[in-house]
Parts: sequence; structure tokens; C-alpha cells
Amino acid sequence: MTMFSPANAALRTRRRTRFVRVGRVVIGSDAPIVVQSMTNTDTADLDATVAQVAELARAGSELVRVTVNNEASARAVPHIRERLTAQGIDVPLIGDFHYNGHTLLANVPECAEALGKFRINPGNVGAGARRDSQFAKLIELACQYGKPVRIGVNWGSLDQAVLAKVMDENAARATPLPTEAVMREALVISALESADRAERLGLAGERIILSAKVSNVQDLVAVYRELARRCEYPLHLGLTEAGIGSKGIVASTAALAVLLQEGIGDTIRISLTPEPGGNRAQEVIVAQEILQTMGLRAFMPMVVACPGCGRTTGTFFQELAAHVQRHVRDKMPQWRAEYDGVENMTLAVMGCVVNGPGESRHADVGISLPGLGEAPAAPVFVNGQKTVTLRGGDIAVEFTSLVDHYVSSHYARRSA
Ligand code: SF4
Repeated sequence: MTMFSPANAALRTRRRTRFVRVGRVVIGSDAPIVVQSMTNTDTADLDATVAQVAELARAGSELVRVTVNNEASARAVPHIRERLTAQGIDVPLIGDFHYNGHTLLANVPECAEALGKFRINPGNVGAGARRDSQFAKLIELACQYGKPVRIGVNWGSLDQAVLAKVMDENAARATPLPTEAVMREALVISALESADRAERLGLAGERIILSAKVSNVQDLVAVYRELARRCEYPLHLGLTEAGIGSKGIVASTAALAVLLQEGIGDTIRISLTPEPGGNRAQEVIVAQEILQTMGLRAFMPMVVACPGCGRTTGTFFQELAAHVQRHVRDKMPQWRAEYDGVENMTLAVMGCVVNGPGESRHADVGISLPGLGEAPAAPVFVNGQKTVTLRGGDIAVEFTSLVDHYVSSHYARRSA
């Protein structure tokens, strides 16, 4: 049974004073931490991009970023917006601009109108004298269309003018800082000075979100702690180039968990490299699971399962745990639409009597298998009380039926 309110846990740890609205989504202040993602389709490919944005939104992405790198992709954006809206998907689209954003947004006003937010990288708006004028043009367009902007600096494309300035200042110190500290400071300075410049150009502070992404966990923690200390803009968190598979998940979780626990971070994106043919929505699921396992938000009933050991027989226990997890994921879209608070439900699937009954009693609905060498007789616990013992080969199906019944009998129906 849930012993704390995830919403209250989130409130306890948040500390930004500012918030930004992106369509119906609020980022910052005491709003829930927002999950976002990014497509990897050619944005000009309407069918592929609409399908992937829809997939990400259905997985729970609350904002979806798309690459806008040429005129074809800029012209596609309003059509993508239209098609998504026709499907009943209102997730805001974020335009990711590098090098030519000022031209694309000026030449394709329908693109600017269709986007919920612009992402600008100050290191990639142009070099030399053009840098300032092109940055100013982007901010002018954001003001003209009433759009918020994420000023997103990145380790891999750090503004070289800012880096040179910070390095010169460091060289003049009596005791110069190490190179990594200078790089971190340059990232923070680039983000803060760009935000300050955007405000002086007329963009309201309530329309600015900052990010400063790096690919190293310790650098990310240090940079965001400094950003959080020196400004009140909402912060977009993410470990850039996190990697593929478990490495990407572990590195992202390690970095974000430290910061989120300190109340730093208002929206997160997990930058996973998908496996070939893999599901892009994995990055959304990982982001949700980080927030939910930390007790900051609830998206889906949590399935607690033991790892199994020499006391579990064959694959029966693993199949049961997988069946229950799959059932929850499959049913959640319907449950979410029909029942209030079902995402807070906890389930337990345990392999034997060592920890099974105890863990099952802590869950809303739990099942404990008997373990090695014993006939399959599995007690089920509901709200801490043993209610029934399931036997035979249909335990998985019978248990998920009990879960369905628990949902329909314990959660209030949403009004139509
Ligand atoms: S609950 Fe039983 S089966 Fe599961 S890990 Fe513990 S001892 Fe092994």
C-alpha cells in the first residue's frame, strides 16, 4: 500500500520559483516534473514523424521535440500538427533549431505558429558577427509568435566565444582552475548570459527554460547544481549522448537521480540510443520509471517482483512476472481514462515464501508462489489480507483477473 503521496513528495523537493507554459503543459515552480522526448525520423517524412510522435505521446511523453533543419522539415511541421490534432493528440511540438533557425522560422511562419516552443543552442546560432544578430532574430521571432524558448547549451557545441573569454579570465587568476572546471563554468555562463540577452531583447523571463547538457555524470551534476544556484529559470535535465541499452539507462538515472533528489530539474529527457529496430518510446518509459521509483510522480501501477533464485522453479515465476507487467502496460491506457488514481496501485509478484507473503502484504495486490519443488499453490493478498489461494496452470490469468477486479472496485470512475 502506498505510504506517501507522490504529489506531496514532488512538492517537498521542488524549488524553482518561475514556471513556463508550453500549451497546456506547465514546467517549473511546483508543477509535476514533465517528461519529454525527441523523434528520430526525418521530420519532412510526414507519415513516419506523425506515427512516431503519436507513439511517444501515447507512451506518456508530455512534449515531443522534432528536428527542424531545412525548409522541407519546417513546411512539414504544421501538417504534422494538423494530423496529430485530427487524431486527438494535443502534445505540444518543440522545434529543435541549429544554424538556420532564424531563416526557417522567418520564411515559414506556419511552422512558428504550429510549434509549442523553440529550442535554441547558443553555440550553434552562427559564428562571429552573425552570432548576435541571428540569436536576436530568433528571440524576436519567439516574441512575435508568443512562444517560449529553451536555451539549451551543450558540451559538444559550446559557444567558442564564451569559452575563450572564460579561459582568458582563468589564465589571469593567481591559481588557475583545472580545465574541466573552466569548461563547466563556460557552459553555465553561456546559458545564463544567453538568457540575460534574450530578456534584454524582450523575451519575458517566464518564457525561458535553460539546459546545459554534458555526457559525463559528475560534470552534469556539477553544472546543474551551479545553474540552479545562480538562476530561477525552470531547468530541463538530461544527460546528453547517454548511450545505448543498460549503459544509457544507468548513466542517465545516476545523474538525474542525484539532481532530482536535490529538487533540481523541472522537465527531463532521457537521450537513449535505440537498439536497431528498437522502440523510441523506451526513453519515455525510462524517464517515467526514474520519476516513479523516486516517488516524484506516478504514471503506472508499480510491479514489485523479486529477482528469483534457486528457490524458484523453471521459468514459471519469470513468466508470471512478465505476464503481470505486460497486462498492466496493456490495460493502463483504458484504466487511466476510466479510473482516478489507478497509477498509484502497487502489485507484488514474488517467487517464494521467504519474502513473498511479507512483500505481498505491503502491496495493494500481491501473489506469492510457493518456491522450488512444491505444488503451485499461490496465496493472493489484497490490501494486506490473504484472500484466496490460486492453484494449477492458470495462475497468471486468474491473478490478472483479480487485479482487474481490484481496479474496478477500488478506484473511482472518472466522470465523462
Ligand atoms: S522471495 Fe524467494 S524466490 Fe524470490 S528472491 Fe527471495 S528467496 Fe528467492
